[in-house]
Amino acid sequence: MSRIKYLILGAGPAGLTFANMLKARGESSFLVLEQEKEAGGLCRSCLVDGSPFDLGGGHFLDVVRPRVNDFLFQFMPREEWKLFTRDSRIDVKGAVVGHPIEANIWQFGLEEQVAYLASIARAGCNQGKEKPERFVDWILWKLGDKIAEDYMLPYNRKMFADDLNTLGTYWLEKLPNVSFEETLRACLTHKPYGTQPGHAQFYYPVNYGYGEVWLRMAKEIEPRVRYGACVAEMDCNHRSVRTKEGEQFTAEKIITTIPWTCFQKIQGLPDSLAGKVKELKTSAIETRYVPEDLDTPAQWIYCPDPETPYHRILVRHNFCQGSRGYWVETRLERTEMFPSEDRKECYVNLYAYPLNTLHKPQIMKELLEFVRKKGIYGLGRWGEHSHYNSDVVVERAMDLAGTLT
Ligand SMILES: Cc1cc2nc3c(=O)[nH]c(=O)nc-3n(C[C@H](O)[C@H](O)[C@H](O)COP(=O)(O)OP(=O)(O)OC[C@H]3O[C@@H](n4cnc5c(N)ncnc54)[C@H](O)[C@@H]3O)c2cc1C
Repeated sequence: MSRIKYLILGAGPAGLTFANMLKARGESSFLVLEQEKEAGGLCRSCLVDGSPFDLGGGHFLDVVRPRVNDFLFQFMPREEWKLFTRDSRIDVKGAVVGHPIEANIWQFGLEEQVAYLASIARAGCNQGKEKPERFVDWILWKLGDKIAEDYMLPYNRKMFADDLNTLGTYWLEKLPNVSFEETLRACLTHKPYGTQPGHAQFYYPVNYGYGEVWLRMAKEIEPRVRYGACVAEMDCNHRSVRTKEGEQFTAEKIITTIPWTCFQKIQGLPDSLAGKVKELKTSAIETRYVPEDLDTPAQWIYCPDPETPYHRILVRHNFCQGSRGYWVETRLERTEMFPSEDRKECYVNLYAYPLNTLHKPQIMKELLEFVRKKGIYGLGRWGEHSHYNSDVVVERAMDLAGTLT
């Protein structure tokens, strides 16, 4: 049995940032356990058809957190990244319009514009109706029935879950906010108004996939990352974990960035809390390469059509220098819709989205408070079971390292 000061579960962006912060502070008593053969988690890349392919889906580094950008540039200098202005589109029944749809209705034909505007005018939020608590009701209330039926409901069903009413609405401030007045203004002036979505500007590596920066971070702490170590059990009272391979590790503090639902056993949790952890939901996605170029300037396209299996196309040749082709993201359950012979270059991410189910905030609050008292800290997309992007995860890891060391 090994005993260390900090045991970090998972070598994705959260674990790697935390570990590198420790190293920067002169701390050497730490170990990272990672189940895969390489670091990077959902942000890993590999080479497909001569160019990078991001295994976990399209990954772009938002510019909105300069502190995070500067931290990452220590490992992969700014000159190795290219800055892009976001061009993302939605394929609504064959009409490809800018995202967000409510700021780009002017790109539809006249009759469609009138139908969308009339529907938004009737939406609950524009009629002074109270904000509903369930996802489907919220979409109708916020955007009206036409945007709901043509885009938001089918798209979100494809991406997250068939039954959207299992999801809450507390996370929807992540979505762009465009008022009815701004929609009208956009239609009259033919340019988008309102709050733009995240990644309005973003970085992507010039010569690599998004995975490169995390590989470089892992290299900095190389002797302290144990690959092929799949954590199966945790004992909260003794701050120890056991891997599937049978090794046991004990630490003064455990930083866990792996999904709470992947533990076969968590000892020391009260039964009621252990039951609630089982209620946490996740979704899996497959990424699949298609070796054809698309005639579009967009970097990615949302696909709400229920008849196509995938929900998003990543147009690689528009952000990855010298590449061709595109890849698609599909919720695992929907991959059966692809022809069976079409499985050449694809990758399954069993843990892709932590689902924002109705009771998740209370469950996570109770869980994280309980384990923190034992010296165990949930961090990142899975440790906090939150729909965080990598820049947010890095920032949270930097902050946690600052408070714990
Ligand atoms: C389709 C998609 C698109 C996205 N697009 C973007 C984007 O454009 N920009 C952006 O910034 N973010 C994006 N994200 C989010 C980004 O992937 C996450 O924010 C980031 O990967 C979270 O880092 P993490 O370390 O918390 O988790 P992860 O990256 O999931 O890392 C967790 C690590 O733990 C390891 N692990 C899991 N279980 C075990 C176990 N039992 N034992 C040992 N190790 C284990 C995993 O192998 C992994 O290495 C996207 C995510 C998805 C799914």
